[in-house]
Amino acid sequence: MKVTAPALLALAACASTPSARRFEYAEMHMGTFARIVLYAPSPEAADAAARAAFAEIARLDRMMSDYRTDSELNSLPGRASPELIEVLSASRRFSEWSDGAFDVTVGPLVADLRRGRPPTREALSLVGWRRVEIDGDAVRFPPGTKLDLGAIAKGYAADRALRALGHPCALVEIGGDLALGDPPPGGAAWRIALPDGRALLASRCGVACSGHAERGAHIVDPRTGTPVTRTTLVVLAARNGMTADALATALSVLAPQDGLRLANRLGAQAFIRGRDGHAQTEGFAALLAPR
Ligand code: AMP
Ligand code: MG
Repeated sequence: MKVTAPALLALAACASTPSARRFEYAEMHMGTFARIVLYAPSPEAADAAARAAFAEIARLDRMMSDYRTDSELNSLPGRASPELIEVLSASRRFSEWSDGAFDVTVGPLVADLRRGRPPTREALSLVGWRRVEIDGDAVRFPPGTKLDLGAIAKGYAADRALRALGHPCALVEIGGDLALGDPPPGGAAWRIALPDGRALLASRCGVACSGHAERGAHIVDPRTGTPVTRTTLVVLAARNGMTADALATALSVLAPQDGLRLANRLGAQAFIRGRDGHAQTEGFAALLAPR
């Protein structure tokens, strides 16, 4: 699907739930806040839906966390669940499309960064997306490889949680990564506040924000091992949460013109603010809420 302004601003409201009321939930998941907004006919229906969605997020976190020693991710190489294969396969595609700017083998570099030390030559030698091979349900990689799905798992989990809700007029946010369903009843779109005070009007897509100024440098350039400080805000609207999440990270690393080209290629809209100015795709301005 090409995410153009008309699609995101679709006027069709939730026809199926004319009497639905708004419910909101928040829980800690994946080391951050997970938030659900949904329209449902009753509190009982809303509670049950939110429980199912949070359970799905928790299940995916147990599978994909690099923090948990007992996660399925940390049991690799070996056989993997379909969801993990899906995320690892998608990660390979994002790596290829971004010329290695997005790379889930950055684990050793992120470990150096967290210890507050410059990238070691050893860590750099262990990074490279081509090290990970996927063959059916088998995942193979050489010793020393450390996978980190921190740049894609939240968006993927938001997509899955949105589906698990079973109510079309809903959104799921996990730490700045959003999956948006149909717009609220009677409304044209969800209004998504951006860290810079502006807001996006969007629905039936994924939205992601990477703001480095607020959270400190946590994205590394896989090719040099150095933390990315050039971009201060990246906003993505893409076909789903996983794509928006992965692209927000890739576009933080890429030169703005290369990033915009990649966004265009994937039918996504992007905004990139750097230390000396900003760049955006042609359709981005149409997504902004009027001031
Ligand atoms: P996000 O908040 O989606 O931008 O993801 C940032 C997280 O992804 C970091 O905390 C790291 O765990 C991981 N990461 C850092 N740099 C990269 C990169 N270049 N490619 C993929 N994942 C990365
Ligand atoms: Mg990301």
